[in-house]
Amino acid sequence: MRATQAIIHVSRLRENMQAIRNKVGKNRAICIPVKADAYGHGAVQIALEVLRCGASCLAVASVREAIELRESGIEAPVLLLSVPSPEEIPEAVANKISMLAADMDFLVLVAAAAQKAGKPVSLHIKIDTGMGRIGCRPENAVLLADFIEKTALLKLEGCASHLAVADSTDPADMAYTRKQLDIFFDAVDSIRKAGINPGILHTANSGAVVLHEESLLDMVRPGLLLYGYPPVAALETSVPVKPLMELRTEISFIKEVYAGESISYGRIWTAGKTTRIATLPLGYADGLPRALSGTTLPSLSDSKRWSVSAGSIRCPIAGRICMDQTMIDIGIDSDIKRWDTVSVFGGNTEKSSAADMAALLGTIPYEICCGINKRVPRIYV
Ligand SMILES: *Cc1c(COP(=O)(O)O)cnc(C)c1O
Repeated sequence: MRATQAIIHVSRLRENMQAIRNKVGKNRAICIPVKADAYGHGAVQIALEVLRCGASCLAVASVREAIELRESGIEAPVLLLSVPSPEEIPEAVANKISMLAADMDFLVLVAAAAQKAGKPVSLHIKIDTGMGRIGCRPENAVLLADFIEKTALLKLEGCASHLAVADSTDPADMAYTRKQLDIFFDAVDSIRKAGINPGILHTANSGAVVLHEESLLDMVRPGLLLYGYPPVAALETSVPVKPLMELRTEISFIKEVYAGESISYGRIWTAGKTTRIATLPLGYADGLPRALSGTTLPSLSDSKRWSVSAGSIRCPIAGRICMDQTMIDIGIDSDIKRWDTVSVFGGNTEKSSAADMAALLGTIPYEICCGINKRVPRIYV
């Protein structure tokens, strides 16, 4: 087994599911997004585990992802969050994947595929209330609902919207979210007034679960929270979750270097005094962002330099991160040895999570976890 591994702490997944359940109450359905290989955690394993923990639905971004779940024997409802290509629609129908309906042209294609296959299709009307991604204009929701109602084999399973700033406590953003919800409620009302049951109502991503009680409705769709990152840093304890993923590796090589000797490509790091440099068998091809490299050059900033944890010691990255290998400064006096385990992120030391790494890079933990390459085995513990 490769020394570089993404450890997935399954017991934390159960605790995070419980924390979400405590927040949303026992009667609401929980839909867990397992798109992008469950944000890098392994879609099938995460799906099986969350279904055991009471999730009632899974959400994916592509038909291929949905089929992967079906092929592993998962029969639970699967909701496709993106628009499939016309060629993928029959596959989605054949595999009983619920789809979002945002426009009439698409519904016509879905209706044709349903008729051809002789199979029913469940649809959720996606209403764009201010995200600006996919969705119908609120005033058109009733037209789509009407078409679904009148078309054989099409079934209106729910109505959904997506919130653009649900994770922000800025008063203007809070007001924007409330406005999005009001627009959603009006559109849903217009469907009801036409005598059509709008089905399951859902709008809440992780930020909304934490911040907007009024968005929870019939079903919630928290991804980030399940994977263990607080969507609203200031409210970390309101839904207490712990990161599922820890990226670990082993020191593959150690050497002594002397003052003036440089490390790695571009020679951006030079030893100021005698030290020991350890090599780790992982690099940017594994998903360790190259921007985390460490430099001693005054002309370059090392403000984004990351440190890994060897036991309780934080060891800064020395020089450029390579495609498959990375060097760290382990100092001359530490008792760190070859083959010792190193935690790259997500270990027990303070300020060492994927969220801390993301903050350093000016990005979000989603990007760090999704970026861990397929060649890194996922180990479920
Ligand atoms: C990805 C996604 C979610 C989950 O978002 P988190 O911020 O991870 O909770 C919910 N709804 C839709 C439509 C999404 O695309």
